[in-house]
Amino acid sequence: MKLDSKIPEGPLAEKWTNYKASQNLVNPANKRKFDIIVVGTGLAGAAAAASLGELGFNVKIFCIQDSPRRAHSIAAQGGINAAKNYPNDGDSIYRLFYDTVKGGDYRAREANVYRLAEVSNNIIDQCVAQGVPFARDYGGLLDNRSFGGALVSRTFYARGQTGQQLLLGAYGALSKEIHKGSVELFTRREMMDLVMVDGMARGIITRNLVSGKLERYTGHAVVLATGGYGNVFFLSTNAMNSNGSAAWQCYKRGALFGNPSFTQIHPTCIPVHGDYQSKLTLMSESLRNDGRIWVPKNKEDAQKIQKGELKPTEIKEEDRDYYLERRYPAFGNLTPRDVASRAAKERCDAGYGVGSTGLAVYLDFADAIKRLGRDVIEARYGNLFQMYEKIVDDNPYETPMMIYPAVHYTMGGIWVDYELQTTIPGLFAAGEANFSDHGANRLGASALMQGLSDGYFVLPYTLQNYLADKLQVDRLSTDHPDFEKAEKEVQDRMEKLIAINGSRSVDTFHKKLGLIMWDHVGMARNKESLEEAIHMIQDLRDEFWKDVRIPGKVDELNTELDKAMRVADFLELGELMARDALTRNESCGGHFREEYQTEEGEALRDDQNFTFVSAWEFKGVDEEPVLQKEPLNYENIEVKQRNYK
Ligand SMILES: Cc1cc2nc3c(=O)[nH]c(=O)nc-3n(C[C@H](O)[C@H](O)[C@H](O)COP(=O)(O)OP(=O)(O)OC[C@H]3O[C@@H](n4cnc5c(N)ncnc54)[C@H](O)[C@@H]3O)c2cc1C
Repeated sequence: MKLDSKIPEGPLAEKWTNYKASQNLVNPANKRKFDIIVVGTGLAGAAAAASLGELGFNVKIFCIQDSPRRAHSIAAQGGINAAKNYPNDGDSIYRLFYDTVKGGDYRAREANVYRLAEVSNNIIDQCVAQGVPFARDYGGLLDNRSFGGALVSRTFYARGQTGQQLLLGAYGALSKEIHKGSVELFTRREMMDLVMVDGMARGIITRNLVSGKLERYTGHAVVLATGGYGNVFFLSTNAMNSNGSAAWQCYKRGALFGNPSFTQIHPTCIPVHGDYQSKLTLMSESLRNDGRIWVPKNKEDAQKIQKGELKPTEIKEEDRDYYLERRYPAFGNLTPRDVASRAAKERCDAGYGVGSTGLAVYLDFADAIKRLGRDVIEARYGNLFQMYEKIVDDNPYETPMMIYPAVHYTMGGIWVDYELQTTIPGLFAAGEANFSDHGANRLGASALMQGLSDGYFVLPYTLQNYLADKLQVDRLSTDHPDFEKAEKEVQDRMEKLIAINGSRSVDTFHKKLGLIMWDHVGMARNKESLEEAIHMIQDLRDEFWKDVRIPGKVDELNTELDKAMRVADFLELGELMARDALTRNESCGGHFREEYQTEEGEALRDDQNFTFVSAWEFKGVDEEPVLQKEPLNYENIEVKQRNYK
């Protein structure tokens, strides 16, 4: 299969304008003749469906939750980037583009990232028009704060609830279309398979999660906006319902999977505190604007803290190691996430970690409270502090927070070209579900920007370009044999799972997979342990198909079955992630191979051999997938070793 990224000709800054000027359009009277399926109601899906509905297309939108407003996007805390340059601190579209490509360790496509930066400003205007209550300064203008990997303040925010407010904006726009009749909403429906007819994506099979019944839906195009797959690690900051199954089904139908091993580990999460935990909680990166990260300078102090014999507030200033400020004076506590996470791991592995496990570092607000006052800190981060206190039972206004890196975001996903089309004609992917514009490491506040850019501003153009010559393509009947076949395959798979009737719960397998992934395919990887992981995952998959126990029946409400189907896919996806990490003999961004590091312990890229996107082609569950490479050409940016010092 030949990969064509379809990057338009012309200078970087004109590519998107030229594309829009020359793309094919669908006449307004013909738009209603096309049905578009959007799977997912997070920011990417809701924005796409609302915009396509407003244009006049017939849209059907699906989600797992009981309301679009419960999509995982609602959890986003810190903010959304845009190159408005309101603080007049030197920002520009080029600088946002530059920071994003550099932050991704030069493993993202230039043209896509430039478009993202260009469109970022439209997103803010659109959301303000919808009434999204972004924070404002005293004079009433939109306020900004800083996030990692940038030397400017470009992050727009709504306290620590930015995702929630943006999603309410998108939900409002979506509701208007639902009311108008251009969008039909299907909640509590899980996509179980993609249906292809004559080589094109023509519909989906869903399971009604309340009745357990399978259903068929047809369309002229399908948009996958199903979010990320970080829950392959079991413990992550993602919502419990987040999963990789829809993307995995599309991969198995022929869509290539891009950079599967590129996972983001976020440095500021509440540390793991027990064996029976099923979820991790993020403390937003925005906290690094005012919080200072440190561990004790002396190992003895760290050990006393671990044993509960010493409190952090008893450690004198000169005995604290503000290791990010020490190692990276230019960016300090605002180094990108991959760098900050590795630095925390390095200190903890060396024995300087705090908390009872020694796997935590401090995020301290004492200086900021002294400088700005408690009320200012409370206004900026109050809800995050409250969340921390509820979980840890410690008051972060008085004692430093404890944080540790955790799985947070997947830069990998379904491979898409410049039009966000996958290698399956008519199948598009948006938001975290696609392999994205973030290369090997996403900068904070860039996922919301990308999801909304894809949904509000890119797909409404590129989908039209795809549909413009499809007027003769008929609406299909759901009795079409390809739909019948796909539905039967889903039914058989579910029945096979239930029939195992083994002895172990789905979560037992998921947890075990998560541990393998964290230990072998997590923050640090090496050849030997990745090879071991592949075998361990294969063995675990065999055990799963022999011994999993799912109570209940197929055609009824059955949440264990829902989980089992997702874990079955994670058990295949985890292996692909390990394979991808194994073939990439370099370190870049969040992909840190221990064999490839500088003397100072920084990621060491191999630009000569690995400046490409890995795009994997499915060949069968127990067959080796085939690696395709999309070369990345940097014509507008000088590729350098990342330096945040
Ligand atoms: C705690 C937390 C905080 C974050 N904070 C920020 C931040 O401050 N700034 C930032 O830029 N990014 C942030 N992120 C990342 C960002 O929130 C996500 O990347 C982004 O919201 C993903 O949006 P999405 O629309 O792609 O997917 P999601 O919001 O995950 O939505 C996925 C949708 O797909 C549906 N779905 C999934 N599978 C199926 C299926 N098989 N069938 C039917 N429907 C399906 C779900 O029901 C849901 O509606 C944060 C992430 C986390 C975990």
